[in-house]
Amino acid sequence: MSDHLKAPNAAGLLHLRGEALHKGEPIAPPITPASMFHLPGDPEPGLAVYGRNGNPTWEITEAALGFLEDAPALLFPSGMAALSAALMAVLKAGDRLLLPADGYYVSRRFGETFLARFGVTVEARPTARLGEGGFEGVAAVLIESPSNPGLDLVDIAAVTAAVRAAGAVSIVDNTTMTPFGQRPLALGADIVVASDTKAPGGHSDLLMGHVSSQDEGLMARVREWRSMSGAIPSAFDAWLLHRSLETLELRFERMCDNAEAIAARLATHPKVRALRYPGLASDPGQALARAQMRRPGFLIGLTLESREAAERFIATCALITPATSFGGVHTSAERRARWGDDVATGFVRLAVGTEPLEPLWTAIDAALP
Ligand SMILES: *Cc1c(COP(=O)(O)O)cnc(C)c1O
Repeated sequence: MSDHLKAPNAAGLLHLRGEALHKGEPIAPPITPASMFHLPGDPEPGLAVYGRNGNPTWEITEAALGFLEDAPALLFPSGMAALSAALMAVLKAGDRLLLPADGYYVSRRFGETFLARFGVTVEARPTARLGEGGFEGVAAVLIESPSNPGLDLVDIAAVTAAVRAAGAVSIVDNTTMTPFGQRPLALGADIVVASDTKAPGGHSDLLMGHVSSQDEGLMARVREWRSMSGAIPSAFDAWLLHRSLETLELRFERMCDNAEAIAARLATHPKVRALRYPGLASDPGQALARAQMRRPGFLIGLTLESREAAERFIATCALITPATSFGGVHTSAERRARWGDDVATGFVRLAVGTEPLEPLWTAIDAALP
């Protein structure tokens, strides 16, 4: 099996900490809230000196994330803190940044609102057209596949290779997939960023993000950005994410199993006007999904007849939480046009959770009369 389709080592993750334990130590990692550290005499490299530079609990969570990514990882207090750190580490005045026109809205707004003021030219292109190339003169390319919320795919290996050949840096936002669904670094990306607020956190109670890369120089700059900007996570939130990561594989597999079954049933449902799910044979992304994704994910894009039909579906389904964001254990949904996304007014992004399949399907079917 190709390296990029190999599952991260979920069993190894569960025993990562145990390997280094001494007799009598707790199996669960401690939370270490700390601003100051005992520091007599001269500082030594690698030693914690001050809470903005490092924290033992961050390191435990970073070790787990790095284990899943198969590359060093740095923790941030949100997905946007991670993405902006990667962009600040890579870009300088005069650079051009290419990002997805149909990707996460805040990433685009960050570029247009802040990076543009510092002399970075921000250009947007639809995800499905990133394969057209033309990366000469671009400093960095941000890739989201599947794009959120449209669920268009792009060939990550081909695009990251073309970006590298043009002398640019590729950054893949892998939030919708997690390392269990897709491994952008193994596909050739220079940097992967993700919002761990979503499936990695998984219980809708924390915000967190990370940056991961094999490039030591880039990671050193990302770390410096974190120390100097002060965009640091709390020890408690880092601990909470670590706890969640131990069940990520279990939750992600259940969510994907559910989504595959539900998408197949929605595909023949008379109330559904259009359906996007990369795991469906009828989906335009299916061949690419098979080639580069381990699982088709847990996000389904379904279009109902009208705005009213979509709102009624979300409001009346007993097992759908009406909410923005996704990746929690509870199935959630929202009508994306309410944020101005370029989708049909009846388009619903359904984020499938970990409920047992049959009750979930019964509730969904009942809300689509
Ligand atoms: C949610 C999300 C982000 C931002 O993450 P936060 O943790 O909310 O800051 C970035 N990219 C994608 C694709 C997302 O879905």
